[in-house]
Amino acid sequence: MKIAFENNLRFAKTLDRSDHLQSYRSKFFIPEINGKKSIYFSGNSLGLQPKTTGKFINQELADWAKLGVEGHEHAERPWLYYHKLSKKILAEIVGAKPTEVVAMNQLTVNLHLMMVTFYRPNSSRYKILTEAGAFSSDQYAFESQIKFHGLNAEDALIELKPRENEFTLRTEDILTAIEENANEIALVIFGGVQYYTGQFFDLKKITEAGQKAGAVVGFDLAHAVGNVDLHLHHHNVDFAVWCSYKYLNSGPGGIAGVFVHERNFKQTDPLRFAGWWGHQESARFEMKKGFKPMDGADGWQVSNVPVLQAAAHLASLEIFHAAGMKALRNKSIVLTGYLEFLLKENDPLEKYYKIITPSGAADRGCQLSLYIKRNGQKIFTGLTKKGISLDWREPNVIRLAPVPLYNTFEEVYRFMEIFKSLF
Ligand SMILES: *Cc1c(COP(=O)(O)O)cnc(C)c1O
Repeated sequence: MKIAFENNLRFAKTLDRSDHLQSYRSKFFIPEINGKKSIYFSGNSLGLQPKTTGKFINQELADWAKLGVEGHEHAERPWLYYHKLSKKILAEIVGAKPTEVVAMNQLTVNLHLMMVTFYRPNSSRYKILTEAGAFSSDQYAFESQIKFHGLNAEDALIELKPRENEFTLRTEDILTAIEENANEIALVIFGGVQYYTGQFFDLKKITEAGQKAGAVVGFDLAHAVGNVDLHLHHHNVDFAVWCSYKYLNSGPGGIAGVFVHERNFKQTDPLRFAGWWGHQESARFEMKKGFKPMDGADGWQVSNVPVLQAAAHLASLEIFHAAGMKALRNKSIVLTGYLEFLLKENDPLEKYYKIITPSGAADRGCQLSLYIKRNGQKIFTGLTKKGISLDWREPNVIRLAPVPLYNTFEEVYRFMEIFKSLF
């Protein structure tokens, strides 16, 4: 459905009134700047706190106070089985079966754990193919994994750059690069949504091409989970990792997650770094020698569950379940579309800024990245002073993420009024 957008406040308010998800904003604490509610466009860095988070964490604190160690069995949500509680909703969000997902650890830790299993270089097939300019932590993980196998990143890491004068990768170029390196790549790994440009990669096509080339294919979904539609199972992705503190609103340093396709469960005894929480539940406390993994993604768990973080995670996942990813994505497309419309109306010739995020809704999530042509830092500072929370990326990019759960069309309009006034 194409909406004929209008550049006026009345129209923005009309969009808000017809928004079925409007009531969800009141489920979150909106941070203030200078004593006034901010326009919070930083949900891609740290999602907002649901008002129910405190209740979920307090339940665990109360059970811990009352029960001590007995809480493992007798807490309202017994801690021993806590990792099971998030599975169903996580599976809905990433398009997987509940057995294929588990919440655990932190994102980069999970990336390493998955690479231990899924990056298995040999003398002829040893390269990793990824996007240039991946998030720093991912770059460090890739380089150190390569070194761990006694290889050299200069040789073993293929980083694809956009064409000259372009900001984002063309899918056709990614597919060609996969084909051209088909004999040498062990692993193809991309962000789901690129953190800097906001580009939503074509997971289906990349997976198909990577696997056809004989490689394993994984994704870092830090900026995709809770933001765009994902069909990890259906698209046959081998593995994926994500964090929960960005769009998933589970709090700073929140518990992360992994997906392992059930196809990969059939490998007998896949190589992995094991720990007791991945050991068969019925025998875990026998404390015996000989690791026997749990079925499914659970077998990749290492440590027991950080329950306070996992409680915050559940609070947020409940909201996602109630709102539904489909409805969220539908609103998101219109909300970001409206921001794009206003930005283009204001500067049609791209004299002052350029949107580097792809313009098609299928190729992006909610984030728009703007390349500011002059005085970027000054404009960024001006925006924050006027109550807008957003972020700055060197050398001259601001990122704006209108989030469908808690941002409004009116906020998008008001942002634009302030932004305009700074040029
Ligand atoms: C946010 C983000 C990270 C952060 O890693 P942590 O392990 O959660 O600290 C890593 N990679 C990507 C792509 C990210 O967007």
